[in-house]
Parts: sequence; structure tokens; C-alpha cells
Amino acid sequence: MRQPVDRARRSAPRRAFLASLGCAKNLVDSEVMLGRLAGDGWEITAQASDADAVIVNTCAFIDPAKAESTDTILEYAAAKREGQRLIVAGCLAQRYGPQLRELIPEIDAIVGTGAFPKIPEIMREADAGLRPLHLEDRDAYVERLGFLPRVVTTHKATAYLKISEGCNHTCPFYIIPALRGVGKSRTIASLVAEAQALAKGGAKELVLVAQDSSDYGRDIELKDGLARLIEALEDVDGIRWIRILYLYPTSVTPAIVAAMRASSKVVPYVDMPLQHAHPDILRAMHRPPQPERYLELLASLRDALPSATIRSTFIVGFPSESEAHFNALLNFLERAQLDRVGFFAYSREEGTRACDAPEQIPERTKKRRLTLAREVQRRISDAIEETRIGERVDILIEGKRLLAPSSALRELGLGRLSAVGRSQREAPGVDGLVYLPGEYPVGEFVAAHIVGHTEFDRAASALEPAAAR
Ligand code: SF4
Repeated sequence: MRQPVDRARRSAPRRAFLASLGCAKNLVDSEVMLGRLAGDGWEITAQASDADAVIVNTCAFIDPAKAESTDTILEYAAAKREGQRLIVAGCLAQRYGPQLRELIPEIDAIVGTGAFPKIPEIMREADAGLRPLHLEDRDAYVERLGFLPRVVTTHKATAYLKISEGCNHTCPFYIIPALRGVGKSRTIASLVAEAQALAKGGAKELVLVAQDSSDYGRDIELKDGLARLIEALEDVDGIRWIRILYLYPTSVTPAIVAAMRASSKVVPYVDMPLQHAHPDILRAMHRPPQPERYLELLASLRDALPSATIRSTFIVGFPSESEAHFNALLNFLERAQLDRVGFFAYSREEGTRACDAPEQIPERTKKRRLTLAREVQRRISDAIEETRIGERVDILIEGKRLLAPSSALRELGLGRLSAVGRSQREAPGVDGLVYLPGEYPVGEFVAAHIVGHTEFDRAASALEPAAAR
């Protein structure tokens, strides 16, 4: 049964709850909305049931992401209390705002990808019963990003830094320009200012995110922009690790690789979505059709960053992918020896060119190829992980976890309660965690060595156990 908002709390600050879906770039936008609301007198709550306003920051990447966003909106709409506001923001809002507002009467406001900082004003419009729809251009937002307050929702020692918004590529399977516009880079000055503020707030690891990080700066006429940015961030006190996500194979220049190698803070971690490894499919994806060049690039990155962890993603079942194309992808995996790989089955996205392409691949074939590709890579990743047993690593502590008696990690010498963190080899949210016995403060770096691994996580032993510190 829907309960009315507690009237006795009327004079107390209003409370906002935010559910952030999708990628790390969207999380930054969520944190900006929370920062703007906190500055406007709102309290942030972790309980939707306790909130005067529930904000769902949505994703519209592929069908499962859209379904998750829609289900989340419907869940909060069903639980909505009298007087509570339901605000839908982000990529799904940008794409389907008018339809969502019409179909779900509980929605009080729509906040597109250019309107995040306007959230306090939008709340007032919602209070006035206007059911506002804000689908503004996002350029003005990107320009203000470094100067807007943010409530960092990660564990403070790690913070994301969004270096640009939108994308200049025309992938026929993703509608990102329709959601976030063409590439728009932030200035180095604004990024350094934000990095300093994040470091002051406790960040020790900065994770640089963009749709294509290696393309950073091109639209603002910065030559080798990412290299210049790496150099500028080198001087930010308090930051020990800088991790760069989403490099694009053809925009990684020698200057960028040299800057990564020269930096004392950039970790040897390469995240480069390659998407396929057969020229025909790469061409159909509007990507450089030269898998041999990809292998050369991987070799040069390994040369420049010895012991680099390399992560990629691939799509199987893209329209017209034959068994021969797919086998070429499996063969590439064997040759590339990537540390970690994410696989996706191609999903038809309304409004993209590939959606209407002939020769769509049956779902059961996509599923079979997905399973097979994962099996091949699991064997490769396992073998690489085995070589790392005994390796000395620094672990940035994120917290602690209770392990179930059945957990495979218990067989690696871990007790019921373990500290968890990540080494330079693990990016937050995608690469699993490192578990080690004992308890350590969040944000501390602990020297350890790796003692074993499961499919997703690693177990380590501290060089100086917690009890002895
Ligand atoms: S940018 Fe892409 S992945 Fe990120 S929230 Fe939007 S649709 Fe999802």
C-alpha cells in the first residue's frame, strides 16, 4: 500500500534517492545531480522508500540495458508514495522522454543528457505540477562539468573523471551520438581543477572515462590531447594511480603511448574495445579492417608497458558473420593472448544501420558463438592468471566482504571475513577483486602477493599481515 510522505518531516530537508544505471560516464552525471541537489539543501538518502524524490538515471545501450532501465522506472513508479517525485534522467530519457512521460503517468520530470545540472530547477517545476521535459543540448553542461559540485558515490579513494562527452565514430550498432551528441572534450584546465578537488576529497586513483579516450582533445584542436592531459595530471598531489579506459585502436598514437610510459601515475592497464577480428566484419562495423595492425599495436603497447594488463571487448553474431568470420575471431584470441575479454551477442538496436541489415544471425547461433568464445578466452585468461601466482602487487583497499562457506575463495586460504581491493591489474566494476585476509582501512595501499585465483577474482596474502601493523 502506498504511504504518504511523512508530514512531520515537512520542515526537515527533503531527501533524494538516486539509482544510477549504465556506465561510469553516467555515474559521473549521477554524482553531478546529487552535488547540485546537496547544494540546494537536499539530503541524499540510500533508501528509496524514505525519499521525497526518486531519480532513475537510465541507460539505453542495448535491449537488455533498456529493459533494466524500464523495469527500474516501473518498480519505483509502483512503489511511489503520495507527494513523492519520480524523475527519469539519462540516456533512455534523452531517447524516449516524450513516450516515457506519456506511458508512465507516475513520472514527474524527464532529464535528458544535457540537463543534469538543472536538476534543482527541474525539481521545482515538478513540484509545480508541470511534468517538465528537458532535452537540452549537452555542450553547455560539458563546459561546466569541472566546476560543478559532485557527490562522489564510489568509495572515495577511486573517482571517475569524464574527459569528454559524446562520440565522433559512427558505429552502425550503437546510437551514442543520438544519446550524447558528437565528441566534445573538456579543457585540460577544467580536468586538472576537478582532479585536484577529487584528490582533496580523498581520491587516490583517477579513472579517466570517455566514449573514446584516445580521441580526447581533437575537437578543441589539442594535438595528442590525451598525452598532454596525462602530463598535466602528473602534478596533481595525492593521486597515485591514473587508469585510462576506452582507448580506440586507430587513435592511440605513439605520443599517447610515450606519455603513458613516461608517467609515474598511469598504471600499465590498457582497455581497448576491438569488437571483431575479421576484416569483413570490421568493415561492416565501420572499424579499421586490419586485425594484423591490432596485433602490432598490442605488441607495441606490451613493449612500452611491460607487464601491461590488456582488456578488450568483442561482439559475436554481427549481421553477416559467417562461421569462417567467427573462427577468425577465435584464432585472433589465441594470437592476441589478451588478459581479460568481455563478449556481447549483437543486439538489434532500433535506429541503427545494422538493425535493418540483411543476413541477421539467428539467436541460437549467437548464443552458441558467445559460449564458445567465452570458453576459449577463459582458458587463455586462466593460463595467464596462473603465471601471476607469486606476483608482488599493491592493493588499493575498497572494503571487506563476508565469504560464504561454499565460496571457491575459501579454498584459497581466505577466512569468512576478507579485505577486498584492486591491484593495478583490475579496473573497478569490470575485472573482479583481490581478496586478502584481515581488515584494512578503505583507501590504504597494502603490499601483497597473489596466491591464487577463481574465474573472476584473485586471492592475495599481505606481505605484512594486518595484525602485525
Ligand atoms: S553512455 Fe551508453 S552505456 Fe553509458 S548510460 Fe548511456 S547508453 Fe548506457
